[in-house]
Amino acid sequence: MASYDIRIIGDPVLRQRARDVTEVDGALVRMVDDMIETMYEAPGIGVAAPQIGVQKKLFVWDLGDGPNAMINPELIESDGEWTFDEGCLSVPGLSWEIVRPKRIHIVGRDLDGNEVSYEADEFEARMFQHELDHLEGVLLVDRLDPDTRKEALATLRDLQIGVDRKRPGGLGLRLQ
Ligand SMILES: [Zn+2]
Repeated sequence: MASYDIRIIGDPVLRQRARDVTEVDGALVRMVDDMIETMYEAPGIGVAAPQIGVQKKLFVWDLGDGPNAMINPELIESDGEWTFDEGCLSVPGLSWEIVRPKRIHIVGRDLDGNEVSYEADEFEARMFQHELDHLEGVLLVDRLDPDTRKEALATLRDLQIGVDRKRPGGLGLRLQ
C-alpha cells in the first residue's frame, strides 16, 4: 500500500486547473487506490488529484458508504444557500464558515467509464463543491470575504503554513 503526501496551501500545484482524464489505465486505477488510502490516513472525507500533485480532473470521497471516485466531474445545477464550517486537508488545522449553494447536481464518470449523476444537498453537496474547487485551482480561502481572507492569510503566515513548500521533486509518493 502506498499513500501520498497531501500538498499544502502555498504549493503552486494547488493553484493550477486540472485537465480532463482521457484514459483510465492500470496506473490511474492504482493512483486512485492510493488516493483513497491517503484520504483514510489523513483522515479526510475527500481528496482531489491536485492535492497529491496530479493535474487531473478526478477526486475520491467517502461519506460513510465506502470509497468512490469521479472522473471529469461537471456541476450542472446548483441552488439555495448554506453556511457551514469548512476545512481542507491542504489548509491543515483551520476552518471557516463558508457560504455555498445548498443543493447541486453533479455529473461525471466512474472508473469503468459509466456516467454517474448525483443530486446532493447540504454536507454531500458541500463536499462535491469543495472537490470541484480543487480541480479549478480554488482553495477555501478564496471563498472568504476580503477582510476574512486577509485575516486567514495572516493566520496561515503566523502558523508558517504554506511557507517553504519546496520539495525535492517527484510526486511526493511515500511508501509504507
Ligand atoms: Zn480541500
